Amino acid sequence: MGAAQQPTYPDAAAVDLAVDRLRTSPPLVFAGECDDLKEKIAAVVRGEAFILQGGDCAETFAGVTADNVRNKLRVLLQMAVVLTYAGSVPVVKLGRIAGQYAKPRSSDFETRTIDGEKVTLPAYRGDAVNGYDFTEASRIPDPQRLVDVYNNSAATLNLVRAFVTGGYADLRQVHTWNTDFVRSAPAGRRYEKIAGEIEKALEFMKAIGADPREFHGVDFYNSHEALVLEYEHAMTRIDSRTNAPYDVSAHMVWIGERTRQLDGAHVELLSHIKNPIGVKLGPTTSPDDALALAAKLNPANEAGRLTFITRFGSGKIREGLPPLLEKAKAEGLNVAWICDPMHGNTFEASSGYKTRNFDDVIDEVQGFFDAHNAVGTWPGGLHVELTGDDVTECVGGGEMLSADDLNQRYESVCDPRLNRVQSLEMAFLVADMLAAGRKRA
Ligand code: PEP
Ligand code: MN
Repeated sequence: MGAAQQPTYPDAAAVDLAVDRLRTSPPLVFAGECDDLKEKIAAVVRGEAFILQGGDCAETFAGVTADNVRNKLRVLLQMAVVLTYAGSVPVVKLGRIAGQYAKPRSSDFETRTIDGEKVTLPAYRGDAVNGYDFTEASRIPDPQRLVDVYNNSAATLNLVRAFVTGGYADLRQVHTWNTDFVRSAPAGRRYEKIAGEIEKALEFMKAIGADPREFHGVDFYNSHEALVLEYEHAMTRIDSRTNAPYDVSAHMVWIGERTRQLDGAHVELLSHIKNPIGVKLGPTTSPDDALALAAKLNPANEAGRLTFITRFGSGKIREGLPPLLEKAKAEGLNVAWICDPMHGNTFEASSGYKTRNFDDVIDEVQGFFDAHNAVGTWPGGLHVELTGDDVTECVGGGEMLSADDLNQRYESVCDPRLNRVQSLEMAFLVADMLAAGRKRA
């Protein structure tokens, strides 16, 4: 079995040039940070923490602006506060950011009708591969884009690091993360209340002389789907501390639903790196498939090394997930289970937009919690496509966006994302699920 979902580059020499450039570029993350994240995920495996993994379906080079990066970080910080405070659980914060530029496609081609004529061109595979513009020239895979991925990821990660350590993520900023727009929504008002309580607690702590490091910044990690093998391979380096290979393009990388073949190139590459890794598991996954993936990707059964990201769809999760959980439990697998309630719930609205219904998304998360509660395993986290902006891509939610609203601000170049208010609403609903689970326990 070869490598699925790879671009076909017309110019092999240009690929070599790009790969050489990447090979000599400094790492984007330090291997020691990947180990720290692995330890945090190990706490999730033990049922002591919860992962919040979120960001765009597809980042774009044009989207690398200060506002865009700050807004995404802000909504993730707000969600994490809600989950930590209302759900009473430590939250591992993991962006789908600074590297999420390559997309697997169900079809190699895209057909549009232009001036009454059907035009077919190669599918857009993310800014890592080709251009979104629907022209022949833009859709040709260009390996120089891999170097652009590196540079844009570096710029994004640099800003994220500045924000999380430079004061923006200080808990005393908890009120300022809630801007006017969100404050007027019910979820925003509920958030204001929590922020007020946290502020009071911080004042009390300060008064008694306690001011720990945790109040002034957060640990934030980045992740993306490891898809274009030239890129991931070129960014894999031998760590000088341990002499082991790490993919230093992100703290965590995952294998997508379309590339998780046991004998495929993606599973092979990720089996050799030491980063914490994830695998998406869709509704066709059998318990034996999951066990075989774990045996290949985590032969030492190390806690924190492997995360299964399930994406069954709201109609399939209640039936499909429990057999996997039961088998993994019976075999003593050390794995973190997190729920991607997005990718099994996509449909095309009558207006032609790809969308998701907020209620389906929440229902899948509820089904995920129900399955874990029934089997006695830990619902370890969420994997969400979201943005910090006020887009109109998913229908439903407290603002009751309808299919007719989607054209107002539909900006995703791939899958529809929850907007800022929908993301915050989701955090409250999931915090309630966590709290309900605790009561039951
Ligand atoms: C994605 O995460 O954007 C994606 C393509 O997911 P999946 O591999 O689960 O379909
Ligand atoms: Mn997606």
